[in-house]
Amino acid sequence: MSGIGSGGPDTPCYGHDRHEIHGHGDPGHDHSGHAEPEHGETPFDDSLHEECGVFGVLGLDDASTYAALGLHALQHRGQEAAGIATWHPGTGFNVERRLGYVRDEFTKTEVIDKLPGRISLGHTRYSTAGHKGQTALRDIQPLLADFAMGSFAIAHNGNLTNADKLRAKLIERGAIFQSGSDTECILHLMARSMQQTIPDKMKDALRLVEGAFSLIGMTRTKMIGVRDPMGIRPLVLGRKDGAWILASETCALDIIGADFEREIEPGEMIIVSETGITSHRPFEPAPSRFCVFEYVYFSRPDSQIGGLSVYEARRLIGVELAREAPAEADLVCPIPDSGTPAAIGFSQESGIPFAMGIIRNPYVGRTFIEPTQQIRDMGVRLKLNVNRALVAGKRVVLVDDSVVRGTTSRKIKEMVLAAGAREVHFRIASPPTRWSCFYGVDTPDREKLLAARMDEAEMARHLGVDSLRFVSLDGLYRACGMAEGRDRSAPRFCDACFSGDYPVDPRDARAKGKIDGPVLDPAPV
Ligand code: SF4
Repeated sequence: MSGIGSGGPDTPCYGHDRHEIHGHGDPGHDHSGHAEPEHGETPFDDSLHEECGVFGVLGLDDASTYAALGLHALQHRGQEAAGIATWHPGTGFNVERRLGYVRDEFTKTEVIDKLPGRISLGHTRYSTAGHKGQTALRDIQPLLADFAMGSFAIAHNGNLTNADKLRAKLIERGAIFQSGSDTECILHLMARSMQQTIPDKMKDALRLVEGAFSLIGMTRTKMIGVRDPMGIRPLVLGRKDGAWILASETCALDIIGADFEREIEPGEMIIVSETGITSHRPFEPAPSRFCVFEYVYFSRPDSQIGGLSVYEARRLIGVELAREAPAEADLVCPIPDSGTPAAIGFSQESGIPFAMGIIRNPYVGRTFIEPTQQIRDMGVRLKLNVNRALVAGKRVVLVDDSVVRGTTSRKIKEMVLAAGAREVHFRIASPPTRWSCFYGVDTPDREKLLAARMDEAEMARHLGVDSLRFVSLDGLYRACGMAEGRDRSAPRFCDACFSGDYPVDPRDARAKGKIDGPVLDPAPV
């Protein structure tokens, strides 16, 4: 779900029973005390960002409370804003949308009291740079629409790669868009469908969209869960006390004590009601291409994907790294937190002791960062500190999940050397990130990706490290359960940001000239 519009009203105008949008005067205010997550705009955060998490519950009293808990567990998938919808026989549809963290906004009694009912749908989002603050208010999901057969709420994780084209066509034919979100195209397409039920309208609409979508829809009595034909983004089904739960990740089931039932399969639509579920296959079958970066970084390490623990996949990436790119060193230290499982794997395989040579301060707030250039210049130092007593005089291997622009890596290296380390070796738990993602992950333009401009040796010189090595694509696939590595003729995962092999043509991006070269002609890997 990405914002693609600009300007316009802050309040979506779909007719429904109750609908409020709240924001704060300072659009960039960080409500959490955590570092502001805007990609690449500060030296604090040089990672890619998942753009959304979704969570739905059907069949529990006070369903919105469970939705808030589920969204809290999915907060890593989007920190800018969240929304929750419910339906109740007395109030009809209710929607609350807020900028800020779920724990700050959806624990307030005055918010949760407006969300009664036994069915609820939630969404947490991270918007792309340039669509932040007040203009993002209108993009906060769930989006809500009224059809002749009833109201419908929708929440989306992913990105539609033909949304610009669809939007232009829909506008040409009279549609009036109320948000900048690609997800709204689905509602307009549903409105134009001649089908008589909401699930059938949804099927019609989804056959016209391209790209990545894990969606939850909600009517008065039903939840609808859908994954795109390639299953690029995750979606799981759970059960609690006879109720049904849909969520982006299993960690969101755990927080409410729900049992994991199964994953929604690529290309599957399930319709859930209090009497049970039905499974449908609205799309032409396609090879599954789940996002491999979910294993590397996006998903929480306590989630399970494809029968594999995300933590274990990350640990095994570290094992592969140690085999492919050994180092003569005294200590293996993770860049916390995401580098930790891979650093443990590297240490176990290499026999080099593991140590927390870098400590993360989780309480860095944007309001603290903002006031002066002098404080901003302190950069990554406010978030990470080197454990001097551990690293002084040592040859240190630093393990990180990825290198995006390289800004943070360079600063960390300087800090570790300043703390007295003799050598600094970087080991990266993913292949070089050379291509932008168009499937629901915020990535800088290609020319800003360090690995798009430099080879490994040049990057090592640029970062000023004694050595720099990345896990290979084959090593990454092995760690993610593919013993034979990457099958080049039929890769099991989407790995486009490493390989340039885009499984779905990113039409809009190509039209904007954001991709050089033929899209479906992958770079050699
Ligand atoms: Fe995931 Fe990269 Fe594919 Fe995007 S391009 S879906 S981040 S593997």
